[in-house]
Formats: sequence, C-alpha cells, structure tokens
Amino acid sequence: MIIQDSIMLAAKTLKKNNIKSPILDSELLLSEVIKKDRKYIIFNSKKKLSKKNVIDFKGLVERRKRGEPVAYLTNYKEFWKQKYYVNQNVLIPRPDTEVLIEETLKIYQSDKKLNFLDIGTGSGCLLLSILHERKNFTGYGIDISKKAINLAKYNAKLQHLSNRAKFYNSDIDKFFIGKYDLILSNPPYIKNSELKHLDKDISCFEPKVALDGGCDGFTKITKVIGKASNLIKKNGKFILEIGCHQRYKTIKKLEDNNFFINKIIKDYGNNDRCIVSTKI
Ligand code: GLN
Repeated sequence: MIIQDSIMLAAKTLKKNNIKSPILDSELLLSEVIKKDRKYIIFNSKKKLSKKNVIDFKGLVERRKRGEPVAYLTNYKEFWKQKYYVNQNVLIPRPDTEVLIEETLKIYQSDKKLNFLDIGTGSGCLLLSILHERKNFTGYGIDISKKAINLAKYNAKLQHLSNRAKFYNSDIDKFFIGKYDLILSNPPYIKNSELKHLDKDISCFEPKVALDGGCDGFTKITKVIGKASNLIKKNGKFILEIGCHQRYKTIKKLEDNNFFINKIIKDYGNNDRCIVSTKI
C-alpha cells in the first residue's frame, strides 16, 4: 500500500472513533513507524510501504482508536524548543504550560547564576526548558513518582543538561533541601469528581497522580504553596500553574503565605492558567 492510501484509511478509522485530529494523528504515527518526519510523508505520498510497516502502522492506529494518546504511542512530545521522551508514568507536556516558561524568561532577562526548584517535575519539561534558555541557572526537580524522576533524568541526559539538573524522588511534605530564588510548579489540580469526565485520552491513560487535586482540586495546590513559602528566598518569584476556575482561592492562599501577586496570565484558550507572585 502507498503512503497516501494508508494515511487516508487510518484517518477514516480514527474519525469514525471520534478522534479529533485524525489526519495529523495518522501522519505522526506513520512517521514513527517509518522513522521519517511528517514532511517526508507529505512529499512522498506515492511511495510504497513495506509489509512490516503496514502491519506496525495498523497496530498503532488500533491503539489510537481506543484513545491512547499519540505521545504515548510515539514516546515523545515536543514542548517549548525540545523533544521530550514520555510514557504513561508522566503527564504529557501541554502547550499551555509553556506560559510558565515565557513568564520566567521575561522576569529573568539576564543570565545570572541562580537556583530554582520545580515541584512535581514529571517529564522535566519545565525545568529543562529553562535550563536551555539560561545557561547559569541550576534546576532542582522533585516528584513523588520514582518512575517520573527516572524519566526526567533520562530527558536531562538526552539534552546534555545533567550537570545543571538535579532530581529528587520525594513527597513534597518530606522535602527540606535548599533555598531557592525561583520556584515553579504545575501541580495536580483537577477535582477528583471531574477526573472521569475528562477526555478518554486523559482519564484512561495519563497518570492520576499528576492530575488528581483531591476533592476540591486544591489539595496539592495548598501543599505546594505552603512548601514554596518555606523554601523560597525573600523576594523570590513563585510561578504556579492553576486550573481555569482556581484564580481567587489560589490568590487568597498565596496572600495568606506572604506572597504578593504580580500577575495572572491566561493560556492560549483565554483561561486563567498561571499566577506569578513574589515572597515578601
Ligand atoms: N492541564 C492539565 C489538563 O489538561 C491538568 C494538569 C494538572 O492537573 N496539572 O488536564
């Protein structure tokens, strides 16, 4: 079968199963099977695929059909300017989280030496993106999941950043190391009862530990704010990702912990997504 026909057939199957971007997903999956980029697929649409490639592609399309995210099928996701290795042990990096990088870079325009902490680092995408942009920064990432920490370490190695990226497998309550100029976090903030109503791609495949914010969605946000308050230096910046209806309650919690609110930033969908504050 030729590339074009395989893509059309796969896209038709995915569409029938309510997958939102059937052509793009088919192209990404076929790219992975034949180890070429999407450009190759588009410019070589009449090329014949080997039997093995056709079988492997069908296998991935079947899995995608049942909702498994493309990033877990290809084992990578692009975020900011890099490609991250991902699997079911970590949340797939979201474009909306890039807002936290943009804000960090705006605040720290010069590349002076500083230490920052990323609470709930997952794949390491926030921490490593910042290290790429600021060569004198050192990043410390913690995560309750040992598997996530191993994966973040692997990404640091792939990106040649291991010397400036330190990772700790720790529960936030048990972490007491260091004082930081900057703290970032994208904690789990989805209400327990809402988890099962998320897209099947998320609810059936992504790690609950990275999403579940307890019965009101604020359990982990509250813990992160308390911990950040203890580990941050005076005048240090705290950049926190939140859910779209969590703005007011989070501001109150930050103020109760002596943070001054600098800015609330919306994501690409115009939802409140990030709060920048300063420890006073
Ligand atoms: N933004 C994520 C979502 O789509 C949630 C991430 C989180 O809980 N930190 O569902």
